[in-house]
Amino acid sequence: MQLNEQPASGFNMKLVMTFSCLLWATLITLSYCWNLQKNQEQHVATLLQAARSFFQQIEITREWNASHGGIYAPVTEATVPNSYLKTPLRDIRVGPDLELTKINPAFMTRQISEVAQKHNNIQFQITSLNPIRPQNAATEREKAALLLFEQGQAQEIGQVVKTGSSPAFFYMAPLITGKSCLQCHQDQGYKEGDVRGGISVTLPYTPLSFSVPLAAGHLGLGLIGLGSILFLGVKLNRAYSTIKHQAIIDALTGIPNRRSFTERFLEEVKRHKRNENSLSLLMCDIDNFKAYNDTYGHSAGDECLLQTAQGIRKSLQRSGDFCARYGGEEFVIILPSTKAKGALRVAEAIVANVRNLAIRHEKSLPEQYVTVSVGVATTSTDQADFSEILMKQADTALYQAKNSGRNCVRVFAESSQEQPVAGDPDFGVTD
Ligand code: GH3
Ligand code: MG
Ligand code: MG
Repeated sequence: MQLNEQPASGFNMKLVMTFSCLLWATLITLSYCWNLQKNQEQHVATLLQAARSFFQQIEITREWNASHGGIYAPVTEATVPNSYLKTPLRDIRVGPDLELTKINPAFMTRQISEVAQKHNNIQFQITSLNPIRPQNAATEREKAALLLFEQGQAQEIGQVVKTGSSPAFFYMAPLITGKSCLQCHQDQGYKEGDVRGGISVTLPYTPLSFSVPLAAGHLGLGLIGLGSILFLGVKLNRAYSTIKHQAIIDALTGIPNRRSFTERFLEEVKRHKRNENSLSLLMCDIDNFKAYNDTYGHSAGDECLLQTAQGIRKSLQRSGDFCARYGGEEFVIILPSTKAKGALRVAEAIVANVRNLAIRHEKSLPEQYVTVSVGVATTSTDQADFSEILMKQADTALYQAKNSGRNCVRVFAESSQEQPVAGDPDFGVTD
């Protein structure tokens, strides 16, 4: 008999489930943050595109205006003649009630900017480092952008900025001097291709710190994932429990199998060494079982094994007592903290209980019922490596029981030791 099986490795399902749920929740949170960031970037890209379009639209309109050398509009409260426009035909009276004034690209840009601000909260600002009209002087931010344009370090600027308490999207691109621009700006020393100034476009911007659709989508996905993990976890746990049960329980008899016995026996041996108690081991074997199979068939033999195993199990009184099918029609019983006399009492009870099952076995003489023989071995701590020795001793005692006519118990005893037998006044005493 060898104690060569390895104990089953532990598997903490709860830990695996908790880790999986936490991992899933972390992934969902990271995905939400990443998507929010991407949405934010997309939002800024859209604003950049919108601002660029506004700028281009203004530039086209200005070019159209400049190509006509300016256009004329009636003088009204909103359109008063531009005092900064030095041109001989700035104002023309065309009738008693109608006076026209010239609107050059700069004047036109200012007027469009006022309309845009009123309707769309969009600000245009035509500006220059060298403005003809002082109100068109550049702000600090515009100055920085204009310098970058002049030095050729940027073609356009688009960034989220803080204006007052709220953020805004600021865009700026240069105004390059064209042929048509020179009629007004030649005096300032500009020539074709020079950066003469720029137009800034400021759009309202709301930062995206939370997105309801994105959060709802991720929450839904997160819950579905967690539900799936829990569902699969429960299924896996059940499958694991079944496998674990199958690994330690003998399928035929329903009592622990040899592997379980090995694990338990090694545990008990360790405990025994620590606590310095007696440890008893019983080897139990059905008598004449081959003849039983031959007489009643293998199925009946299986049924007999089941009933005998249950009979043995029911004979154990203490919670720490343990029985297992060792193989074939052999069973093994561990009795922790039990001296030889107590072990003998348990062995006798097993023999009696199996006999009392009254399973007919006409070839097992003289009883003609199914019986068992039991070998008992008990150890104390003074033996160094006693686990193997104890098994050998129990096996020897079982052999002696078989040789003594079966249906009985024999306790292994060294030749110097007295062997306890049923009827002894101390019989049945356990620690
Ligand atoms: P002894 O009294 O000396 O123990 O004799 P025995 O006939 O019981 O012992 P032996 O070793 O000669 O035969 C054991 C038999 O147990 C042989 C085998 O067919 C039977 N056996 C072992 N495992 C099973 C099983 O799972 N089911 C059935 N039906 N029979 C089994
Ligand atoms: Mg047998
Ligand atoms: Mg046998």
